[in-house]
Parts: sequence; C-alpha cells; structure tokens
Amino acid sequence: MAETIVDQLNRPMRDLRISVIDKCNFRCTYCMPKEIFGDDYTFMSQDQLLSFDEIIKLVEVFARFGVEKIRLTGGEPLMRKDLHLLIERLHNIKGIKDIAVTTNAIFLVKQAKKLKEAGLDRVNISLDAIEDEVFQQTNGRGIKTSPVLKGIEAAREAGLKIKVNMVVKKGMNENQILPMAEYFKGTGDTLRFIEFMDVGNHNGWKMNEVISKKDIVNIIDTSMPIEPADPSYFGEVASKYHYKDGSGEIGIISSVTDAFCSSCTRVRLSADGQLFTCLFASDGYDLRALLRSGPSVEELVSAVKEIWTGRRDQYSVDRAKGNPLPKKKIEMSYIGG
Ligand code: SAM
Ligand code: SF4
Ligand code: SF4
Repeated sequence: MAETIVDQLNRPMRDLRISVIDKCNFRCTYCMPKEIFGDDYTFMSQDQLLSFDEIIKLVEVFARFGVEKIRLTGGEPLMRKDLHLLIERLHNIKGIKDIAVTTNAIFLVKQAKKLKEAGLDRVNISLDAIEDEVFQQTNGRGIKTSPVLKGIEAAREAGLKIKVNMVVKKGMNENQILPMAEYFKGTGDTLRFIEFMDVGNHNGWKMNEVISKKDIVNIIDTSMPIEPADPSYFGEVASKYHYKDGSGEIGIISSVTDAFCSSCTRVRLSADGQLFTCLFASDGYDLRALLRSGPSVEELVSAVKEIWTGRRDQYSVDRAKGNPLPKKKIEMSYIGG
C-alpha cells in the first residue's frame, strides 16, 4: 500500500511530470521564442540530463507515495534517444497505472507503435491552429500542419488515447478556435484549449492577450452548443463541456482566469533532476545532486517527503488575488508544462 502524504494545503501527490530533454525542434512564440532560443543557445549536455536509471530510481520513490500517473514532456520528449526503453521500465514499476507523453507529434509517425508497445497509454498533442499560415507562425519554424496531423493519425492507428492541446493567445490564433473545434468534433479526440500563461520570463505575457475560458465557451457555444460536464477525477485540470448533439467533448484549461491550485496534485522533475512543486516556481530541489551522492532509498524517500509536506504553492491563486509573485520563474521548455 502506498503512503499518502499531503502538503500544507492538504493536497496529496498524485501525478509526476518528467521533462526528459530541454531541446525542441519547434520555436513556439509563447514558449521558446527564437530570439531567445537561437542557434547559440546552450542546451543541457548529456551528462547533465538524468539517466534512465536515475529517473527510474526516483519514480520508484514517488510510487511509494501514491503517484500513479506519469507524464513525459520536454522540450520535445520524442527527441530523447530511446524513449521507448524508459517507458518500458516505467510501465513495470509497481503502482504506475498510466503513462502519457506531451508532444508536438512530429516524430510520432516513426515512434507511435514502438511507444505503445512499450506501455504508453496516452498522448497529448500540441496543435495551435488548423490553418497552415497561422500554425507556421505559432511554431516559429514555418512547419505546416500536415506532419502533425499525420502524427495524430499514427497515434490513432497505434491505439493510443489522444488529446489535442491548443494554446489560445489574442492576436495569435483566436481565429482558429472554431475551425479547430469543427475539425476535431466527432473524431473521438478531445480538444483542449489552454489559456496563454505567464510561464517563464521571455514570452512577453500580458493579461490582455489572454482569451478567457468564458470567451472560448461563448465562441464555441454560439455555433456548436455545449454544456458543462462533471470532472472525471479529483484534480482534473480541464473544465469539460459536452457537445449537446452528443458528438464528443472539449476541455478548457483556465489557469489564469479560474485557478485550480486547490486541487493541484502535480509534481515536476526537470531534465537535469530539479524537483519543482509549481509550474511557476523560481527554484527547484536538486535531486540529481542527491542521487549522484549515492544515497540509500530511505534518504531519497525522506527528501521527497520533506519537499512535498512543506509545499504551499498556489501561484495562480496569488496572481488572481494580486498577491506578490516571484520575479524570476522557470521556463516552460525547461519544466515541460
Ligand atoms: N514539446 C511538447 C509539446 O509542445 O507538446 C511538450 C512540452 S510543451 C512545454 C508542453 C505544453 O505546454 C504544450 O501543450 C504547450 O502548448 C504548453 N505551453 C507552453 N508555453 C505555454 C504558455 N505560455 N501558456 C500556455 N501553455 C503553454
Ligand atoms: Fe517546443 Fe512544446 Fe515549447 Fe512548442 S510548446 S516550443 S513544441 S517545447
Ligand atoms: Fe499547481 Fe502552481 Fe499551477 Fe497552482 S499555479 S495549479 S499550484 S502548478
């Protein structure tokens, strides 16, 4: 039986997000703007990254505390060599029930089948527009939608469950809300809209560029009527809506206009082994240094316990209340969303 631990706001630890690499083949304007992440940008070296052995050692510790869901992210996680071998090992850890990957889907055509066979359950695919001209701008690399759509097709054929995530930002892609909803309605894939967030220090976030959950609901409801649906489980981040004609559902992740910190059960590990208890944190806990000092399992267990039980993060609530916020934040491409 796993031991449940709760933080200072009585939240259990349930989901672990692991960034496996900080590199990415895209330069999405809201995440890795190419002016900052240019050709001379220094990414992590191989020895800075946690090895698969190190990741497995940590996940075995997290599983003791009731973590059942693992999400692999990045950067672009499918750029981490032999990712399927990591998934195979994660799948064999007692207590781990669900493994997902968040990806821009470009490498899914090559990898979907292998990942599914290794034990991957789900993919969250990021796609911010269905029209090429808009998508080519948002991904910062001029890449058209067809390789992503082919990646989605490959995931479907492999039998992976699919969610499609679209970040919505005013002036960038709000004209794609309806076309995206129309495209995915009735496919069985859930489309989720994500409010543009003030993650990191470089994406020039402004409150007036956020298209709120309320606005997104109105835009869709006017042409394709929807109604709110109950969450599937405690801590689900997306508010769900069903199409009234029974042709599926959409989700909206409203971390700016409707914070959900009170049910936040997520803990995040960066590719270089720093543990973060909030997406908007300034500093992490250096588990790589601890791991590389040759600790006993008990030492790892007590370090993780101490970090989680001391947690008080509720950045989005603080933002909404106008409370003071940290000046420096970790980058999204570093922690992986
Ligand atoms: N490269 C992979 C991908 O894009 O799916 C995984 C990493 S990416 C950082 C994870 C998610 O964070 C993506 O769905 C992306 O759209 C989202 N994201 C990045 N920056 C964001 C921002 N400023 N606001 C909201 N979502 C953001
Ligand atoms: Fe890369 Fe994902 Fe960030 Fe886009 S959102 S730049 S695909 S890490
Ligand atoms: Fe969780 Fe931090 Fe996001 Fe709140 S702001 S939901 S605590 S990650």
